Amino acid sequence: MIPIAKPYLTTEEAQNAYDTILTGWITQGPRVAEFEEKFATYVGSKYAVAVSNCTTALHLAMIVAGIGPGDEVICPSLSYIATANSITYVGAKPIFAEIDPLNYNLDIEDVENRITPDTKAILLVHQIGMPADIDNFKLLCDKYNLKLIEDAACAAGSSYKGKKIGSHSELVCFSFHPRKVITTGDGGMITTSNEDYYHRLKMLRQHGMSINDRVRHNSDKILFEEHVEIGYNYRMTDIQASVGIKQLEKLDFIVGERRKIAEKYHDAFRSLNNVRLPIENTGYLSNYQSFSIYLKENFPLSRNDLMQKMLDSGISTRRGIMTTHRELAYRNYNGINSLSVSEHASDNSILIPLYYPMTDKDISFVISTFLQNASA
Ligand SMILES: *Cc1c(COP(=O)(O)O)cnc(C)c1O
Repeated sequence: MIPIAKPYLTTEEAQNAYDTILTGWITQGPRVAEFEEKFATYVGSKYAVAVSNCTTALHLAMIVAGIGPGDEVICPSLSYIATANSITYVGAKPIFAEIDPLNYNLDIEDVENRITPDTKAILLVHQIGMPADIDNFKLLCDKYNLKLIEDAACAAGSSYKGKKIGSHSELVCFSFHPRKVITTGDGGMITTSNEDYYHRLKMLRQHGMSINDRVRHNSDKILFEEHVEIGYNYRMTDIQASVGIKQLEKLDFIVGERRKIAEKYHDAFRSLNNVRLPIENTGYLSNYQSFSIYLKENFPLSRNDLMQKMLDSGISTRRGIMTTHRELAYRNYNGINSLSVSEHASDNSILIPLYYPMTDKDISFVISTFLQNASA
């Protein structure tokens, strides 16, 4: 069976976690601080704050951006449900906008049309690792005085106009779930250039505490913490961070290898007239967290039949990115106009296996099986 994805973990990660466990400091401590510094340096941002996952990262980003009850935040429906949930957590309302079917990222014209006096922010997703057009969304945010928050859950290692995702705006949230390009088991990171945000994020992730354990531990004077505001337990552990430090060292390599596999898929499927492949415009570099293929109307099989055929051949695939507005959790949601582009893209796309290391034999088998079904 060829899986859809697989994390690339080696004895290096295991050894680092092992060493950390034996130090006796296993929750948020020196390894988390090291991971944050290295991640900030890697993406080219001033600060990075590690948290328990990307959903909690997004939640804290909403809070420090000042989003609350009565506010509207524009985001795609075509995304993992955590995107919209993070808006709902703070009592604000997600306003779903359409995507550009060529790159699955927010359609900027449709976003502008949905701006109201209650709109406070845009939550911009870099879908399955393909960068969104950050500069133009920044301009739009400036024009309407909105905050920009980036959901870069899938986009560690991607870049936009020559700079890594994580360096362009004030609040960028990453995931280290095993389904993403690098992993810490679960885990998340927020990068920011804003010092006030940085300090508040560090407090909020640890119960609103004014000083952290590391500072208290290293102090030669007794220190008492204060709880400045109601916070959360959104800590990453040092065990996770020690895995993340090793994963980060491999990130550019992993992205390079993923891009080689993606190139093989592009070469194999480019001439098919019944599919549309991912489009990477000049200045955009995807980490190919997933490889999504859109099946045109003249494709001989329905998307679900194709998924079944691939599964019958021993190849695991996934449906296209979900739409949030059609999920039961959002059934009473009344802010939805037409989202036909998102629905159509979701229903007619398929994700095929892409991970490192994927053998040439497995890559060829995915290609030949897909081609066979495309000409059935
Ligand atoms: C995976 C994902 C999330 C959630 O990340 P977790 O680390 O699992 O919380 C949020 N947004 C998008 C777009 C994702 O793909």
